[in-house]
Amino acid sequence: MKRILSVLLVLILILGMTGCGQAQTPESTDEQTSEVKDGTYEGTGVGRGGNIVVELTISNGKISDINVKEHHETSGLSDAMDIMKSDMIATNSIDVDSVSGATITSAGFRTAVKDAFAKTGADSSALVSTGTVEREKRESEYTADVIVVGAGGAGLSAAITAADNGADVIVLEKMPMPGGNTLISGGEYAAPGNWIQVKEGIEDSTEQFYNDILAGGDYENDPSLVRILAENALDGANWLKDYIGMEFEDNMLFFGGHSVERSLVPKNASGYEMISKLTAKLNEKNIPLHKNTAATELIQNQDGKVTGVKAQYGDQTITYNANKAVIMATGGFGANLDMRVKYNKDMDDSILSTNTVGSTGDGITMAEKIGAQLVDMGFIQTYPTCDTQSGSLLYVGDVRMEGRSILVNKEGHRFVEELERRDVISNAVIEQTGGVSYMFWDESAMKDSGLAVTHEAEYNGLILRKQLVKADTIGEAADFFDIDAAELKKTVEKYNQYAKDGKDLEFNKRGELVPFGEGPYYIMVSKPSVHHTMGGLKINTDANVMGTNGEVIDGLFAAGEVTGDIHGTNRLGSDAIADITVFGRIAGQNASK
Ligand SMILES: Cc1cc2nc3c(=O)[nH]c(=O)nc-3n(C[C@H](O)[C@H](O)[C@H](O)COP(=O)(O)OP(=O)(O)OC[C@H]3O[C@@H](n4cnc5c(N)ncnc54)[C@H](O)[C@@H]3O)c2cc1C
Repeated sequence: MKRILSVLLVLILILGMTGCGQAQTPESTDEQTSEVKDGTYEGTGVGRGGNIVVELTISNGKISDINVKEHHETSGLSDAMDIMKSDMIATNSIDVDSVSGATITSAGFRTAVKDAFAKTGADSSALVSTGTVEREKRESEYTADVIVVGAGGAGLSAAITAADNGADVIVLEKMPMPGGNTLISGGEYAAPGNWIQVKEGIEDSTEQFYNDILAGGDYENDPSLVRILAENALDGANWLKDYIGMEFEDNMLFFGGHSVERSLVPKNASGYEMISKLTAKLNEKNIPLHKNTAATELIQNQDGKVTGVKAQYGDQTITYNANKAVIMATGGFGANLDMRVKYNKDMDDSILSTNTVGSTGDGITMAEKIGAQLVDMGFIQTYPTCDTQSGSLLYVGDVRMEGRSILVNKEGHRFVEELERRDVISNAVIEQTGGVSYMFWDESAMKDSGLAVTHEAEYNGLILRKQLVKADTIGEAADFFDIDAAELKKTVEKYNQYAKDGKDLEFNKRGELVPFGEGPYYIMVSKPSVHHTMGGLKINTDANVMGTNGEVIDGLFAAGEVTGDIHGTNRLGSDAIADITVFGRIAGQNASK
């Protein structure tokens, strides 16, 4: 007994010297424990737009809440954090799947949660997983009047219109979130005769728009489809504003290749405005949206009529029967390297892409298998001013579309008209030293455009990654990128003289020429990325998909970037959002008949 007591006494003394609290809050990972202490811990990770700061709450040894205190991710893509958060809480694990289409946001969020968890002092084995994420249960077969494949702008416009015409509709989306390229787009919309043009007294007409689209596409477009787009663009914009509830800014942008300023800008210059309002309408109309559901093949009856689609939902194969029709709205193939190279060998892996990962041309492949006609597949557009590291389109560079910047090369010279067509500028950039261009603008352009505020996260990220410099003098800005400073100063002086004289003698830049004034000055480096695939399924003016013999494929409609022959060799900026709205609505209307 005496022996037992003395052993206990020694143990008590040792524990007293060590201090119980210290074991739970170790300073180094060597001292990690296998138990998680309840409490709230803060952690930081880096997402697409900068820091993501989270507060992780542990209750009863388990993850009970994750509060995102700070983030600068694009609206819509930030939903990825909500998806991961609920998976982490459901499984009591940090190692849940990333959200496809939002890889950088997912990685930043996970790092932030891991950082917070490290502060518990426990090692990760202390989190006992409570199983896998429960997927929403699905039947093996569904039937609706109209099945829409793809929940981007075209698919959602089609679905809402079909429902408004009395059809019951199901929308399939292969990604965890709706939106596709429309979500990450600027959402700018070309509409001749729009309310801002009227207010500002800018003359425009459907005929002028029609001619611009044809000229922009080198007359390789189908004039009958262009006519439909030109004549219905304004009605589509009004539908989005008045019926869908989309809000627009008070200014317009002047996109290259247009003969007049006619491009509407949605709230915050982001496609999120369009997608969030379209999905709100979808919900209001109780149209089911089956996410994480990838259509894989079209189903036909013995007469060749399309009667549905097979889709994959995890391991489950689901049959979706369409009483009336299937609408293909799966977007383009800018993110499918094999397909790009198959149709245009110049579009290889040396060129990055602005597109979401879901833009893999699935609808084109599925429809081709049942005899659909493909058109213009080799016409792939690059966007001239993209991030040299990620390929993303740089919205801060929209200062160019405000007519307030010039593009120069390493030698400090302008080399192209800054409001030229995208393909012309891209081709010119590729010819310059290092295959990059440097966009130059001044403080008043920065302030007037408001772009450093609207796209604050992108702006800060570019500065951090040394892709954009703000400097007090032209020389200092030029030196940052090793541009010939003396030549750049001469170029700016020359441009200012052109502005004074009202004529750009070198490149005949369209629009009003505004001279550069006081510093600070800005220079941003960029290069072209694959942006838009003009080719796709051949449709007629009713949005029916055509077969290789020129016949209509019964029961199959298509709208949006999945189609071809509308933009010819080259799509003009802001024409796609008009296109997907106009043809989305036409497809919805006709599919519901
Ligand atoms: C960064 C960027 C900026 C842009 N800015 C503008 C702009 O300001 N103005 C303009 O006019 N154009 C712009 N564009 C072009 C324009 O956004 C697109 O052409 C347009 O949004 C395409 O719309 P969509 O509905 O056809 O396709 P998407 O919006 O891409 O939608 C297609 C959807 O289908 C889903 N899908 C694909 N395959 C399947 C399958 N097998 N099963 C189920 N679902 C599937 C995809 O995941 C996606 O959600 C921009 C493009 C990008 C990339």
